[in-house]
Amino acid sequence: MTVKIAILGAAGRMGRALVNAIAQQPGAQLVAAIDRYNVPESGLDAGSLAGLPALGVFISSDIDEALARTDVLIDFTRPEGTMAAIAACQRAGKPIVIGTTGFTPEQKAVIAAATRKVGVCQAANFSVGVNVLIKLVEDAARTLGDAYDVEIVEAHHRHKVDAPSGTALALGEAAAAGLGRNLKQVAIYGREGHTGARETQTIGFATVRGGDVIGDHTVMYLGEGERVELTHKASSRSNFAGGAVRAALWLAGQPAGSYSMRDVLAL
Ligand code: NAD
Repeated sequence: MTVKIAILGAAGRMGRALVNAIAQQPGAQLVAAIDRYNVPESGLDAGSLAGLPALGVFISSDIDEALARTDVLIDFTRPEGTMAAIAACQRAGKPIVIGTTGFTPEQKAVIAAATRKVGVCQAANFSVGVNVLIKLVEDAARTLGDAYDVEIVEAHHRHKVDAPSGTALALGEAAAAGLGRNLKQVAIYGREGHTGARETQTIGFATVRGGDVIGDHTVMYLGEGERVELTHKASSRSNFAGGAVRAALWLAGQPAGSYSMRDVLAL
């Protein structure tokens, strides 16, 4: 069976990566490419825009018309775009994969309410590798236990405006869950000057910014006489896009509800 997919934000960086990922994924077909009504790319072929041969799918702004011919929508836009998409998906009864980040608590509540009517798969990071890492980090923390100090180091390009990354925080949450700790109570987000000895139970974060690093994350478990390091390095946006398309294929067959990459990957 072919799953018909629409992309919201098709003219953006992730939108173009998604067009490529769908083209490479057997069983997936791009049927609509949607963006804001006034983008310069409006009316252009989504395939050509993504560096592929023309697909005959043109950038439009009519989300309701697109959803009528679609099995599942993938959204990588801005929170306002997601809010419009959530409303349209509920009208059409179609599931949605949400890659957009940066929601307010009110917007998160709107998304949560929608999960009663349609399938919603949301992840701050759709990379399959990162989601496997999150699971490994929790398992390793549980097994290694309190005898190992946990420290998380992340590196990103010079344009990133927030720190630590959302993925580093998710890794911290996973380590804390494995150790039975509350990250909010044990996180240390920087060290400078006379810090005193390291307090047991804390989970430390260190941030590197520079160049064009797409995203590196390492979780260290530092014990007596040994240390374990679990690392993920992203080298292209295609890993986020591939994971989101995988999520879309999986979500198309699910009932209404709230899902994450843990469900998609059965972790
Ligand atoms: P981008 O700015 O390159 O593209 C965003 C696109 O969305 C643009 O084409 C823009 O015109 C469109 N858009 C904005 N508002 C819209 C609206 N109201 N309605 C319709 N379209 C709208 O950004 P990007 O780098 O592609 O990232 C997009 C989002 O995806 C960001 O929130 C980013 O943080 C997130 N992201 C998530 C992951 C993940 O794995 N979850 C990975 C990368 C990026």
